[in-house]
Amino acid sequence: MASKKLSLTSKIVIGMVSGIILGILLQLTVADHPWVQALLINGLFTVVGEIFISSLMMLVVPLVFVSLVLGTSALSDPAKLGRLGGKAIGLYLFTTAVAITLAITAALLIRPGDGMNLSSDASFDATEAPSFGQVLIDMVPRNPINAMAEGNMLQIIVFAVLFGIALTLIGKPGERLKGFFEDFNSVIMKLVLLLMAVAPYGVFALMTRLFADLGFATIGNLLKYFLLVLGVLIIHGLVTYPVLLKAFTGLNPLIFLRKMRNAQLFGFSTASSNATIPVTMETARRKLGVGNSVSSFTVPLGATINMDGTAIMQGVATVFIAQVYGVDLTMVDYLMVIATATLASVGTAGVPGVGLIMLAMVLQQVGLPVEGIALIIGVDRLLDMTRTAVNITGDCMVTTIIGKSEGELDERVYNDPNADQANESSASSNIEGEPDQLKDS
Ligand code: ASP
Repeated sequence: MASKKLSLTSKIVIGMVSGIILGILLQLTVADHPWVQALLINGLFTVVGEIFISSLMMLVVPLVFVSLVLGTSALSDPAKLGRLGGKAIGLYLFTTAVAITLAITAALLIRPGDGMNLSSDASFDATEAPSFGQVLIDMVPRNPINAMAEGNMLQIIVFAVLFGIALTLIGKPGERLKGFFEDFNSVIMKLVLLLMAVAPYGVFALMTRLFADLGFATIGNLLKYFLLVLGVLIIHGLVTYPVLLKAFTGLNPLIFLRKMRNAQLFGFSTASSNATIPVTMETARRKLGVGNSVSSFTVPLGATINMDGTAIMQGVATVFIAQVYGVDLTMVDYLMVIATATLASVGTAGVPGVGLIMLAMVLQQVGLPVEGIALIIGVDRLLDMTRTAVNITGDCMVTTIIGKSEGELDERVYNDPNADQANESSASSNIEGEPDQLKDS
């Protein structure tokens, strides 16, 4: 498809753009033909796209478990773990609260729901927001194998951290086991790179499939809402994050944004922070230079509890639905929205479309009709993809801040524009679990 000299990012972009063009062409021409539907849209493109997503998901649980056990066992001081956890949760909640505040403010100023007279017969079932106590209880797995089978990230994190602590406490047998985990980690990281090498084809199939079916007319009807969510997402990604990164670390945020491109493309095409974890982890470690003891913890935690992009959609959507239904929300209501959206993101996994389920919790909390979700569901997929790219950018931004503050950031790697390019262009090169630069710095 592309010449060998092209970077992986360029190849993925080519896959994405050609997929979008082909999808739109199909939609404009033969998409309704039963054979095209059966053989191409629901056939070839769906099969290749789904296999791509499944292969990414396949790596998530082993990768998170193994690298987190190693990461925890590399922490010499258990107090450091508590500090890391505190900083990560604090920063994740803070960025989410900033995101939703920004979204609500923008929606109140621009008023996307004014003059809209939309009605819908569709209904949407709301799930109750779990209580904070229940979120805490649910974090501890009764059965770690079950947690892994279900991909319950918070439970896996808790088990892996405890396992890693115990491993360091037992001395020699722990050392032996650590050697096994190190080798295991290298194998998984190699698998990640192999998978990344075929990503352009996976992304091509996903985009073709999506754009062959995408309801452009629905987007046209909700253009103001759609563009507002998109605008706030872009502002948060390109302004809030760089400003925070610069303020907390002094690092050059342009380098950060450039290095995030691959992971963002994965997030965008899969619409799942969870499925993107292997690539986010790769980016944090090898491109941004954050040590494994920080990134193995903050990346999977962020994929689960940090959803700034999702919070932005929820903020705009709440105001939009209130305006459409002519409900006046008070200041207390808005504070409630901020609190619920921030907390809802803690208990829900980063998978496609979960933002709408969380939105139902938010609407219920302030007494807005949950059916309002039916109004925006038609334009949600593209927004889901964009906010997932924002979500994982937030994960890496916080990971970089914590890495820097813990002395676990190798600035030579961060500032090296070619960091990791050798690995990307040749998935057959030698991969170790930890960036060498970190060891000798
Ligand atoms: N798809 C998003 C994610 O995985 C969650 C959402 O907004 O639906 O991060």
